Amino acid sequence: MTTDRTSLFHLPMSSQAYEEFGLLQDALLANPLSAEPDNWAYGWGQTYKSGQYYSLIHSHILVPTIYKWIWKSSCIMRTKVFAWLLLSDRLNTRDLLKRHHWNVTDDTHCVLCVAHAYEERFHLFFTCNFSQRIWNYLQIDWSLGDDIQSATSAARREFGMPFFTEVVILVYWHIWKLRNGIFFSRNTQPLANGSVILFMTFLCLGIELKLNIVMLSWLGLMLCCNTLYR
Ligand SMILES: [Zn+2]
Repeated sequence: MTTDRTSLFHLPMSSQAYEEFGLLQDALLANPLSAEPDNWAYGWGQTYKSGQYYSLIHSHILVPTIYKWIWKSSCIMRTKVFAWLLLSDRLNTRDLLKRHHWNVTDDTHCVLCVAHAYEERFHLFFTCNFSQRIWNYLQIDWSLGDDIQSATSAARREFGMPFFTEVVILVYWHIWKLRNGIFFSRNTQPLANGSVILFMTFLCLGIELKLNIVMLSWLGLMLCCNTLYR
C-alpha cells in the first residue's frame, strides 16, 4: 500500500473531503499498521452474544426511566406489557380508535363515570372519578408533576414503598378489566364489582414471592383502614 495517502483521492479535495481526510489520518495514526495478521473480534470479546449485540446497537437510545421501572418490576409479563402499551399511547381506548378512524362505535364516552367524559387514556386511568377514588384509596397522588414521567417520579417518591410500580401496574390492569367488563358485557353496575384490594390480592399471586408477602401485608393494612366501595 502506498504511503502517500493523498494519491488515493481525486485532487483537489473539497473542504468536506479534506476534513474527512484529516479524520482518517488521525484514525490511522491511532492504529499503526503492524506485520501481525488482521484479527476480527467483537467489542466484548471473541464470542458472539445476541444480548451483547442488542445492547450495543441500542446503547445510544435513551429509554425513559418510567419504562425501566416497568420492565424491572416484579409483575407478570402480561401486565408489564399492558402498562407499556398504556404509557406508549397504544391502548385501544375509544379516543385511540377514533384517532385511527376505526369506527367500532360512535360512543366515545367513558363508561366508568357518570360525567360522560371523553374516553382517552389520561381520563380513564388518572382523572376519571372512578380511577381517582382508587388512587386516593391507595394514597397515590398524580398531581405532583406536569407530565407522566415527572408525576410518576413524584408519586413514587411520596408513596415511599418499594412496590410502587407493582401497585400502579396492577391498578392500571384493574381499571382496564373493569372498563372492558362494562363495555363488552354491558354490566351497568361497575362500582359493585368487588373491592380493588381483593382484586389486587388475587393479582399479587403473579408477583415475585418476596415482594408478594410485603405487598399483601400492606394491602391488609389498607383494608383495615379504609373502604372503597362500601
Ligand atoms: Zn370517567
